[in-house]
Amino acid sequence: MSQMGVAERTGFRAIVSTASDQIAVAPGYLQREWEQDGRRHFEYHMDAPIWPFASFSSARYAVARDSWNEVNIEVYHDPAHAYNVSSMIEGTKKSLDYFTTEFSAYQYRQFRILEFPRYASFAQSFPNTIPFSEAIGFLADLREEDDIDYVFYVTAHELAHQWWAHQVIGAQVQGMTVLVETLAQYSALMVMEREYGPQKMRRFLKYELDNYLSSRGGELIEELPLKLVENQGYVHYRKGSVVMYALKDLIGEDKVNLALRRLLDRFAFKGAPFPRSSDLIDELRAVAAPEHQAYITDLFEKITLYDMKVTQAQARKEGDEYLVTVTVSAGKKYSDGAGAETDSPMDNLVDIAVFPQASPDLADELLPEPLIFETRRITDGEQTFDFRVSELPVQVGIDPYLKMIDRNPDDNLKSVEVSEAGL
Ligand SMILES: [Zn+2]
Repeated sequence: MSQMGVAERTGFRAIVSTASDQIAVAPGYLQREWEQDGRRHFEYHMDAPIWPFASFSSARYAVARDSWNEVNIEVYHDPAHAYNVSSMIEGTKKSLDYFTTEFSAYQYRQFRILEFPRYASFAQSFPNTIPFSEAIGFLADLREEDDIDYVFYVTAHELAHQWWAHQVIGAQVQGMTVLVETLAQYSALMVMEREYGPQKMRRFLKYELDNYLSSRGGELIEELPLKLVENQGYVHYRKGSVVMYALKDLIGEDKVNLALRRLLDRFAFKGAPFPRSSDLIDELRAVAAPEHQAYITDLFEKITLYDMKVTQAQARKEGDEYLVTVTVSAGKKYSDGAGAETDSPMDNLVDIAVFPQASPDLADELLPEPLIFETRRITDGEQTFDFRVSELPVQVGIDPYLKMIDRNPDDNLKSVEVSEAGL
């Protein structure tokens, strides 16, 4: 998270004194350290202007040190529970790799994570400095191998704010948090996808989708499209993840990242006028093909809900192969801010997959490798598709990896009824 209400970057220097057995840390680089009157003093200075947005942390820290290229990485932590420090360092290195390759140079020569107690459970991105609650990082139990490593994810998200908040920040208008939180979510998703592979993203996207869908029901004022979001977490984080992943899947990661580089070129480290969400959307539109413009409108400028399901899935053995017949139904609605819906014609490219016997558990969030994975043009009502596969088909899915905002994703998978030829 990262909120600031300021218009100008400024110089930063701080002298912090603390108990003699503690280390105090503020943004900037350590210039001096000394003892005086039984207290320990630290002087920090930042050599380039920053937002007037600073954190001060002090504790009996142990410090884990590592480096990535010219950037030194430090994790200030309680030595009694250092379990996840290496995951934070790994997350930092992999994020720096991705963000500096895909977006722009990292503006500092240091990156520090600082543990704080469970008085609150968040992490927040200050210049080269991330206070990080023990509740969401240092005490996380990551021993279950199939779980998403959320320490890695939070580290990537907070580091991404060094770009999306500290290099470029949105103007204080509707849609501001798209340029901060949605882009940090997207950046973290891409680092995670590189780390875990696209197959494993379904669990994360399902969490984001479920959270968006359930939270919008609890909206007390007005749900807004992503473009006009008013600091609504379920929109800028949860829906934002699904929207950016869907867009990246449709037009390609290289195109999305090109648009982000152009946004950085135009606005990084500059003063007013600050970019609005429409500037981001304009850059995304500029790299997308004409046939994808309508979907960009649906993703960013409207509240769009899909309802897709597999209504029938049958297969027949023909020689060495199976002929799989899949019937799907689909529809699209627009919602207004109060939840009133109107039908809208659907015309989207949607994934359809046929899965082998490996995972009969339809609820499993980790799907097996598909036998067939194709994108088909889906319009309203029922449509039937045929596929030929050489192994026994067990289940089929429409949008099985949950890239679209489908209000009931649980009916997107269905077991296949298999009959032998001639029976
Ligand atoms: Zn954030």
